[in-house]
Amino acid sequence: MLVPLALPAADHAQQWVEDRTRTGLGAVRVLVEELRSGPAGDALAGLRQWDEITLQLSNVAAVGSLLSNVHPDENVRTACEQAEIEADQVATELRQDRSLYDVLAALDPTGLDAQATRLLTKTLEDFRRAGVDRDDAARARLAEINRRLTELGLAFSRSTRDDVRTVRVTPDRLAGMPADWLAAHPADEDGLVTITTDYPDAVPARMFVHDRDVRRQVTVASLQRGWPQAEPLLQEMFALRHELAGLVGHPDWAAYDAAVKMIQEGPAIPAFIDRIAEAAHEPMQRDLAVLLARFRCDVPDATEIDTADANYYEELVRKEQHDVDAQVVRTYFDFATVRQGLLDVTGRLFGLRYERVEDAVVWHPDVAAYDVLAADGRDDVGVGSVLGRIYLDLHPREGKYKHAAQFTLADGVAGRQLCEGVLVCNFSRGLMEHDHVVTLFHEFGHLVHHVLAGQAQWTRFSGVATEWDFVEAPSQMLEEWAWSPDVLQSFATNADGEPIPTDLVARMRGADDFGKGYHARTQMFYAAMSYWFHVERPTDLTAATRELQARYSPFAWIEDTHMFASFGHLGGYSSAYYTYAWSQVIAKDLFSVFDTADMFDPELAGRYRKKILAPGGSKDAADLVEDFLGRPCTFDAYSAWLAE
Ligand SMILES: [Zn+2]
Repeated sequence: MLVPLALPAADHAQQWVEDRTRTGLGAVRVLVEELRSGPAGDALAGLRQWDEITLQLSNVAAVGSLLSNVHPDENVRTACEQAEIEADQVATELRQDRSLYDVLAALDPTGLDAQATRLLTKTLEDFRRAGVDRDDAARARLAEINRRLTELGLAFSRSTRDDVRTVRVTPDRLAGMPADWLAAHPADEDGLVTITTDYPDAVPARMFVHDRDVRRQVTVASLQRGWPQAEPLLQEMFALRHELAGLVGHPDWAAYDAAVKMIQEGPAIPAFIDRIAEAAHEPMQRDLAVLLARFRCDVPDATEIDTADANYYEELVRKEQHDVDAQVVRTYFDFATVRQGLLDVTGRLFGLRYERVEDAVVWHPDVAAYDVLAADGRDDVGVGSVLGRIYLDLHPREGKYKHAAQFTLADGVAGRQLCEGVLVCNFSRGLMEHDHVVTLFHEFGHLVHHVLAGQAQWTRFSGVATEWDFVEAPSQMLEEWAWSPDVLQSFATNADGEPIPTDLVARMRGADDFGKGYHARTQMFYAAMSYWFHVERPTDLTAATRELQARYSPFAWIEDTHMFASFGHLGGYSSAYYTYAWSQVIAKDLFSVFDTADMFDPELAGRYRKKILAPGGSKDAADLVEDFLGRPCTFDAYSAWLAE
């Protein structure tokens, strides 16, 4: 039986990480040398050796990435960052190692089964995407470009992160701001209150401040962050990505990036963007009309609205027309019952049982460990067999990761290593916002995907190893269970034990849905920037932004703003910001076959688990979707949702 990794107690965690990194990377070097210089064995033996290298590297990187983000001891976090960097360096070196590539490329695929053949194909593709088969000059240039791109990526995120702007106003102009914010921001000796462009200030200021001019000042300051210093960094980044793509045989960066995604082709990206924009056109007009009508109650001659007013009026419409009091909603979502509800709901849906492991060594007392067991015989997994271990680390603390994400602790490989995953979030310990409940379900969707795909034959296909424009779909779909009145009523009860009323959930949904058409258009405006900036590499990014905003966004341009300069996703997502919407189209289609009156249909849920989640990366995502739906994915469910 496979056993979980024994994590170290806090007092020797640093030594443990350093030893484990040294041992793991040492093993990688020995395995690589054997593969490179050993006798040419059969293809299966070669692939097994390569998979063991992948597993060892992934183990070092996973612990590094997890504990550098969650461990309470700064020294441990630093040691883990170092482990992650070293594992990444080794992985990069291997992909550029010509002699290793030659060994793998010489393996004879005859007689390999479909999975092994897929592994060999994907592995050789990884090497070629790194340029291993190019001449020496090209390989040297690629290494130089990659180094510079890493520097530029860091410089770009710094250029926004460090550029915090401020707006200072007298306290009387802040009517509308939440009382706790006002209490925490008293006037200074000049009698002024400072609002920074950081989210905890700028978001409520733009949503709630009644004074129109204050909202405008905060909006403009926010949209000026990072400019002008980010523009030359971005220009150089786009140029180098373009050059890199050309060196490995692609017409542009977007084509290079799309080749390993569901979308496959660069030009399919603007086609997708325009298709979503078209589907969202009428819903956008409908909600914009409501927004403008409300705006005109205060500004009678307005014919258009920009984002300095849109955030505020959107919030107002939600409050006035959908009658949702967030303070009342929270009373139904006590953290402890939500956590248990999440486990009950997902356990029932996916045929799982979670057993708390009280004596597991964890990195902080807040963390809860559970073994995940098969509760029924789905997928031919024996009832009661352990599928993996999960850790829930759900509350904020100093030095911890600030967002919500699933981290891998161990990739599950059948007969070789038990699957382990971790949910890292920052929820309050008492009452939760419903938004946060939805986030919890979403992130748990990634965790359950990791675990259910954790009986893989090969490391490369284990867990959430699918195309990057598909990974959000299962999580986006699981969000629906956090919106169903029936499902919510199974755990969301207030202090008197009363379940959340059905009509309140309906009003919450209505409020959440308001603006979905123009939100989709705004997302397509961002996706168009991400694509066209990489393909056309315009010389004036402000002018190009203005043009794309006019084409896709419903909101009027604000003079002297440079939104792209703080659009951080140009770094990580590069030309592929379309992916979130792409996954959403699939999520709506997958959900369309579920009956909202019977969200736990075991036959359907079992098929979903088996066809979509369990295969991990062992099949192309388009095939997974088609296997489950019995047809290719369509836009219909997404369009219907936008229109309703
Ligand atoms: Zn996600």
